[in-house]
Amino acid sequence: MEKYTDKKRRNQVFQNFIEKFIGEKQMELVKDCGTFLAFVTNREQTKKKLYKNNMCKNRFCPMCAWRKARKDALGLSLMMQHVKQVEKKEFIFLTLTTPNVKAQDLENEIKKYNLSFGRLVKRKKVMGMMKGYVRKLEITYNRERDDFNPHFHVLIAVNQSYFKDSKVYISQKEWLKMWQEATGMPEITQVHVQKVKQNNNKELYEMAKYSGKDSDYLINQKIFDAYYKSLKGKQILVYSGLFKEAKKLLKDGKLDHLKEIDPTEYLYLIYYAWNQTEYLESELHELTEEEKQKINHQTINELEEDQ
Ligand SMILES: [Zn+2]
Repeated sequence: MEKYTDKKRRNQVFQNFIEKFIGEKQMELVKDCGTFLAFVTNREQTKKKLYKNNMCKNRFCPMCAWRKARKDALGLSLMMQHVKQVEKKEFIFLTLTTPNVKAQDLENEIKKYNLSFGRLVKRKKVMGMMKGYVRKLEITYNRERDDFNPHFHVLIAVNQSYFKDSKVYISQKEWLKMWQEATGMPEITQVHVQKVKQNNNKELYEMAKYSGKDSDYLINQKIFDAYYKSLKGKQILVYSGLFKEAKKLLKDGKLDHLKEIDPTEYLYLIYYAWNQTEYLESELHELTEEEKQKINHQTINELEEDQ
């Protein structure tokens, strides 16, 4: 429950910052978010699964962004399994960045990023090796310098032969040169690229989590406003090629066979009600036979971030 308590407290901070941007009705939902949580749990109470909730679904809400990241991370993991097994691909992870910008330039910088990225992926060499990608926009805030760093995380599907084919393979040095050219910024000194070893939960979660850390964008109203204005209505995860196809399969439930079945035997219901600063726990309620049948032996639909 620690994580929920932490996120609900952050949701309360978030309420102050979001209020001026949304209507009364939405505001009610944000205030109510996560005030009531029902979990199912096993005999030893070592495993808890969220069963019912009243989440607000605002993408900036710390509680909801965290919940969504866990679902998206699992989706990403399923898409990668599909692209690896069926399409016989491997993956590389590319991080593209440019020098930091001040708040007033953030929105414009993101537009420039999109254009630069468009130029990069249209390069002949990149088109030759890239079989699809998932791209995420992320923004970090630097407290000391009071500026922002937007950057792209890109997961790229490549042929299995990519790493041994010197005609197709792109070295870190080449990526840097191409990114400098695409942005028109020769002063960029870093591009990070690495082979994705296997289904690494940490990397997946990194990719799926929301564009900003709540510890960054909830520092004060001014910083929140900068994040809000530059991210509102923007597509955070962009899919292309094989990943675009995989995304459609995922949406249509056609990757469900890749999901794992939860082996936990859930026996009890337990409720938590938010009381200003903490959750109050109810007694255990035994599940009815009908509930047990409905809840047990179901697929796992989200990725635990700390596995
Ligand atoms: Zn919420």
